[in-house]
Amino acid sequence: MTKTPENKIIVAIDGYSSSGKSTMAKELAAKIGYRYIDSGAMYRAVTLFAMEHEMIGSDGSVDVAALSEAVNRIKIDFILTPQGQHTLLDSIDVEHRIRSLEVSSHVSPVAAIHAVRKALTARQQHFGTQKGIVMDGRDIGTTVFPNAEMKVFVTASPETRAQRRFKELTENGTPAKYEDVLANVIERDRIDETRAESPLRKAPDAEVLDNSCMTHAEQSAWLLDMYHKALTKADERNY
Ligand code: C5P
Repeated sequence: MTKTPENKIIVAIDGYSSSGKSTMAKELAAKIGYRYIDSGAMYRAVTLFAMEHEMIGSDGSVDVAALSEAVNRIKIDFILTPQGQHTLLDSIDVEHRIRSLEVSSHVSPVAAIHAVRKALTARQQHFGTQKGIVMDGRDIGTTVFPNAEMKVFVTASPETRAQRRFKELTENGTPAKYEDVLANVIERDRIDETRAESPLRKAPDAEVLDNSCMTHAEQSAWLLDMYHKALTKADERNY
């Protein structure tokens, strides 16, 4: 194969909830002219669908059979708005609603369902057929794109992450208590790490980024440097 300036790679950014991976991924994608896909938003959209269709009981239990049967019919799209990328569920803009604490509290059990993972993994892989994407999530480097040319695993302490999420929610006008946000961060980590299918795990070839004590500028520079290295390596392999 010949090297071309158009050579594009897949960037997989995984990590713990509220570790800042979406912000980093979005910014990197804009800088390098790649498409950004928020895989967590897809799990959140399916969760909102389940809530709206009474597939989640008052005790938090999910009607696995009904959701497994419906999941392939759920339409999820992303559109670019003046406020950034928004998620559409069955053609309705649900960007604000999928970020609520209620959706956050139901999303991890929904994301542990086999049929849900199977359906969303296939859609995510489809986004990557032309490469040139930055995708963030929990299993992008391990399951969705195990051959991604660049893999990053982002982490920070639960308190740092809860503080960031709390700030984001209050700035968006969503009332929340810091203690509830911290409990949700810890509980989502637990479910994501211990589920049977595609648990949250660092891929063996992923670079770890602990951003607890890093400034925004330091993280951006680190990521861009990694991208250039990964692109050079991919170019060398293609010769
Ligand atoms: O990234 P975000 O926090 O928005 O993701 C919401 C939830 O979706 C996670 O807590 C996790 O349970 C699930 N998820 C997943 N696999 C992904 C992305 C998100 O299981 N690739």
